[in-house]
Amino acid sequence: MDSLIIPERLVALGSKAEGEADLIFKEIGAVSCFNTEKVLKAFRKNRVSDACFSGTTGYGYSDMGRDALDRIYADVFGAEAGLVRLGFVNGTHAICCAIFSSLKQGDVLLSATGPLYDTLRNVTGQNTGNRGALSDYGIGYAEVQMGENGLPDIAGIKKAAAGKNVKAVFIQRSRGYGDRKALSCGMIGEIAEEVKKVNPNASVIVDNCYGEFVEKTEPCEAGADLVAGSLIKNPGGGIAPGGGYIAGREDLVKAAAFRLTVPGIGGECGATYGQNRLLYQGLFMAPHVVSQALKTAVFCAYIMEKLGFEVSPSYNEKRYDIIQTIKFGNEKMLLEFCKGIQESSPVDSFATPEPWDMPGYDCKVVMAAGAFIQGSSIELSCDAPMREPYTAYMQGGLTFESGRLGILNAARRIAEAAL
Ligand SMILES: *Cc1c(COP(=O)(O)O)cnc(C)c1O
Repeated sequence: MDSLIIPERLVALGSKAEGEADLIFKEIGAVSCFNTEKVLKAFRKNRVSDACFSGTTGYGYSDMGRDALDRIYADVFGAEAGLVRLGFVNGTHAICCAIFSSLKQGDVLLSATGPLYDTLRNVTGQNTGNRGALSDYGIGYAEVQMGENGLPDIAGIKKAAAGKNVKAVFIQRSRGYGDRKALSCGMIGEIAEEVKKVNPNASVIVDNCYGEFVEKTEPCEAGADLVAGSLIKNPGGGIAPGGGYIAGREDLVKAAAFRLTVPGIGGECGATYGQNRLLYQGLFMAPHVVSQALKTAVFCAYIMEKLGFEVSPSYNEKRYDIIQTIKFGNEKMLLEFCKGIQESSPVDSFATPEPWDMPGYDCKVVMAAGAFIQGSSIELSCDAPMREPYTAYMQGGLTFESGRLGILNAARRIAEAAL
């Protein structure tokens, strides 16, 4: 296809990027090896066999594949218990479930990392007073802004977390649609430790989206009580067809299961309709797929910086999530970049991404996502809220080979549009 012919100049820049990033790619590979071993150890310990893949219908009692996968997630995420369910409609649902199940009337949820991710702002009730939001149940919400240096304001968090009604402290691991940086598990551990000092009764809940398998540790190993995330991001490995997960302290995971289904039933019902194999295979692939996404992000950072755009993280900066941001400063360049990503996708390559009013977001959002799984952002994708400073959030890439091509094609469109 003519439109994907990359000019010589960009091909050369691509080779240069790969050369310069060689050591970084090796480090990414080492983390992937470590996490692959962690996943395999959990598979072995929990005796994964063909029988785990058969699945159930109806009530879904005694679904051995589902129950073993819960234990495997617990092991991989350094937690006491896990809850992996296709019944979570997305990551927001899993996180919302973790929040609600940890709080009751009169309690306060404290965000330690500034505003929540866009779709979660509807959950607190501060946004639009949605029916069923925390505020409807008499649960309060407060937030501590990120510090001047872009890192969490530990002193501010300590002060706010000491409030006697604060029963859960919320941490967002990745940058989301913000211009903050992602947090390391070391930093999450530090926040958890400080919170426990002033308020041992508050649970620490982490929005783990986009952070899984980027480091060798996960938040619960660092001291968090509960993590939640989406299966169409990192831990689904591009293979899980949907769903979400929660992992953490046993009592909290049990409460979350009661919240997801019914008090008294919890995780014991929930048929898997023959989909278990995809969740297993996805988790098996996940450390590798995350490494491919990270390499794609590094490659992207190098190229776009060389083309004169402000990027974060820079190509050689330590990464704690798979997101790469590129500040375009205007709508046109942002859309060209998204079109370039879309055009090089395996699915819907002929489509043109258009900004639209997505449920849960307060401005138009453009999404380039030519993905096998609808909306999957572990597959090469790029989205952006249509507002100043027109920053693109690029993430994913199931294979570095395809990610690399997508970036080069997007760069080509940018270069052509600039002429
Ligand atoms: C993706 C994401 C979520 C959940 O989004 P869904 O689209 O509902 O899966 C929550 N928090 C962050 C930081 C995210 O990146």
